[in-house]
This record gives sequence, structure tokens and C-alpha cells, in this order.
Amino acid sequence: MRVVFGATTVALLVIGSSLSGAAPRTNCQLRAIQDLQRLSPRGHAIYLAMKDKNQFLAFLTCDDVQLGLSTAVHESVHILTEERDAYPLIEGGSVPRAHEVSRFYPPREIAATFEQGDIYVQTYLRRGAASSADDLGYLLDELNAYSHDLAAATKLIAVHTGDERVDHRAGLAALMSFVMRYVETARRQRPTTWQGLQRASEKALVRTLWLQAEAVLTASWGIPGFGGEKYVEGLCARQNGSALAELIGQPPINPRVCAATAASGSSITK
Ligand SMILES: [Zn+2]
Repeated sequence: MRVVFGATTVALLVIGSSLSGAAPRTNCQLRAIQDLQRLSPRGHAIYLAMKDKNQFLAFLTCDDVQLGLSTAVHESVHILTEERDAYPLIEGGSVPRAHEVSRFYPPREIAATFEQGDIYVQTYLRRGAASSADDLGYLLDELNAYSHDLAAATKLIAVHTGDERVDHRAGLAALMSFVMRYVETARRQRPTTWQGLQRASEKALVRTLWLQAEAVLTASWGIPGFGGEKYVEGLCARQNGSALAELIGQPPINPRVCAATAASGSSITK
């Protein structure tokens, strides 16, 4: 599931497992896949991995090819994760899902620490909204899907079409904020989950998916108009990230990103 936030129209759209409404234009698809192969080989690898190409193409509309492709990559990563019982990684290979994390405290318990009106909080943390509100495994699934999504969008600027500007970075930055807060809350208030996160497989899973996300965020940081600043501001606040730093054994955010983060806009952290 992917949230699209178009900054110019303030239009909000949550793309679920199927698209509805008027039939989208799809006559760009052949060319778009060629562009994906040329510009974003990692994103194209996700397309190739899909057994049913129509599941990828269903999300590839032509109003904004950059957005269509990055959304199709995002949704395909979810499908592959289910099929393989493992999170596909951008550089190839995958990391197995750790089903033990389903017994950890539910991510919805951190929702109250963020702005309630935030679209990402509403979509991913609100009770009953999505599996990610109930199960850390699905929150990590979203973190991984948004990592692939932003990695592709970063490479696909040349094929941006349409007038709409989309906050490609906001989704990943929001999901990183949620995972960081989840770990911080575990250390403070949820000792069973905190102990569970110390086990080798769980720690390696969080570390791998976090470092991948952080690398993608950092690579996108020089691109103007990709949004996400208010989440990154929260990610850079040291008090928010100390538990995650302890868990993964290194600073959770590249200091260069934090140094470049202007104190513009308000953090979504209360
Ligand atoms: Zn998603």
C-alpha cells in the first residue's frame, strides 16, 4: 500500500491492492519498462522477479511515469515478500521474515506520539487501518517497499511526466520515523519486545532493512522537491534515535543529512 501526496494540489490518494475509477491510460507501459531497465536496473529486477507481469503493470499508469513505475515497484515488493516469506533487498538477495516479531507489541501503540492528522500515521498506524498497525513484520514490509520505491523514483527523474509534484521521499522518511519510535518505545516501556529485538535474527533484520532505508534516503537528499523534511527533522533528533543506535550499533542517520536539514516546517513528533 502506498500513499501519494501531491504537493501542488494537496491531493491525497491511498493506493491499495487494486486501482479503481476511470480506466487509466496504459499506452506508455512498454516504453516505461524499457526506461526502468535503462535508468533503474534494481527496480527492473523487481519487475523481472514478478511471475505475473500484470500484477506489476496494474500499478503502472501513464499520467506520471516516474510515479507509476515507483508505485509498481513498491507494490510488487509486497507481493514478492509474501511469495518468498522474505524481504527482497535492493542490491539483490533477500532477508527472511522473522515471524517472532508478530508477538511483539503492536505498532499502533506509537500512533499517539505523532500528529493524528498525518496521512502516514492514519494509513499505517491507526487501529484497523493496515496490518502494519498490528504487526512489526508488516511495518518493516512497508519500510522495505518504500525503500525500493524511493530508490527507483530517484533514478527515474528523467521520465517524470505531468504537472504534479509528488513527495517521493515522504513515505520512506515517515516509515523510518515509525520504526525508530517503535524501537525507542520498546526500550523504554516494552521490555519483552526490547529483549526480543536483541536476538540475532531480529536484530539483523532490523539492521539490514534500516541501513538500506537510510542509504536510499541519503542518496535522495540532494534532490529538491521530494519532500519528507518534517520527518527527517525528527529522525535527526538524537533523543529519538538512541535506542535504534544501540540496537544496530551505529548512528541511525547520516550526519550529513542532518547537517543539511534546514529547520523548516514542524516535526510531526509531538
Ligand atoms: Zn506499501
